[in-house]
Amino acid sequence: MKLSERVTNLEPSVTLAATAKAKELKAQGLDVISLTVGEPDFTTPENIEQAAIDGIKSGKVSFYTASGGTPELKAAIVDFTKKNYDLTVEPKNIIVTSGAKFALYTLFQTILDAGDEVIIPVPYWVSYGEQVKLAQGNPVFITGAQSNDYKITVDQLEDARTEKTKAIIINSPSNPTGMIYTENELREIGEWAVRHDLLIVSDDIYDHLVYNGNEAPHIASLSDEIFHQTVIINGVSKTYSMTGWRIGYAIGNAEIIGGMTSIASQATSNPTSVSQVAAVEALAGEQETAEKMRQAFEERLNTIYPKVADLPGFKLKKPQGAFYLFPNIAEAMEMGGYDNVTTWVNDLLAQEHVALVTGEGFGSADSVRMSYSASMEDLEEAVVRIRRFIENSK
Ligand code: PLP
Repeated sequence: MKLSERVTNLEPSVTLAATAKAKELKAQGLDVISLTVGEPDFTTPENIEQAAIDGIKSGKVSFYTASGGTPELKAAIVDFTKKNYDLTVEPKNIIVTSGAKFALYTLFQTILDAGDEVIIPVPYWVSYGEQVKLAQGNPVFITGAQSNDYKITVDQLEDARTEKTKAIIINSPSNPTGMIYTENELREIGEWAVRHDLLIVSDDIYDHLVYNGNEAPHIASLSDEIFHQTVIINGVSKTYSMTGWRIGYAIGNAEIIGGMTSIASQATSNPTSVSQVAAVEALAGEQETAEKMRQAFEERLNTIYPKVADLPGFKLKKPQGAFYLFPNIAEAMEMGGYDNVTTWVNDLLAQEHVALVTGEGFGSADSVRMSYSASMEDLEEAVVRIRRFIENSK
């Protein structure tokens, strides 16, 4: 059967593809170190698991929930948002979704008509552009300069703005770069968006994974006007090591959230009931375990960053958050005679059994993404192997 143009034109996620390839080689018995994953390598904290078990035993999770999430979870999100961002929101401003990814998906379906444009800073998280296209929108990519930590400026935004522009995406800390926008930078972007009545999509999924005394300011917290112009995207996946539970949420104006909820009601009916019970405990329960996981990432970053930055032909500033390194490897590629980063990544996997993700999926033709959500032992061994690969390919 001829598949739809939508599907035919869809780029599959390079991250999931790289992870799958590494798993396949591992299953064949090869000693593969995979630094591809976009998820914490810890199991979900015990108190959260226990809340889910108690929920199952109570029998209450046997049934559909409200499409936009249970009142209990919405109440927990209201409190969490007040406590963490000093923002006052009501349940009507919240939708709970099957992961933050689906919050973004329903958002684009809600706000975009054919030909509407969304400005996406490069390097970007792999799904933004594809989700905009699935909603018949046009992604407009603008590249943050490496010298500006890959962050975009208002001048660049202004150059990209047309009468079709509907929204911009800000992801700080960023996947893949780990860089954070300063309060001033966010204020400028926010005021610009308010001036031109553009929606700010603030993907805050890594906002609790920030290291070495850095802070991640929130664009929505900077003024009432900016807050009203923003849809916040967040979830429990990364902070609480709950990627498999699939709980994300969006906070925004009631009309947009209502539209998103209608779409979700026709697409999934509701996010999984037991996961919602677990997410209440994640947001409202003890936070020490999440803090310990954050500290573990910080330690790994501090150990591995200097070693990766020291690899021949690698250029990399120290990330401030998330759990990725995104070195520019243009010189390393040149040393080995490579003009394509994906070929470099494939050869590294074939020869040294280290799996990284090609920068191409993030809009960057001379970078690779390395996740440090792996054991220190694997991280150190991966660096040894990458160095050997570069030296042998000279
Ligand atoms: N936004 C960014 C920047 C991400 O990296 C991810 C996951 O990789 C998501 C959103 C989606 O997270 P979730 O697991 O909640 O769907």
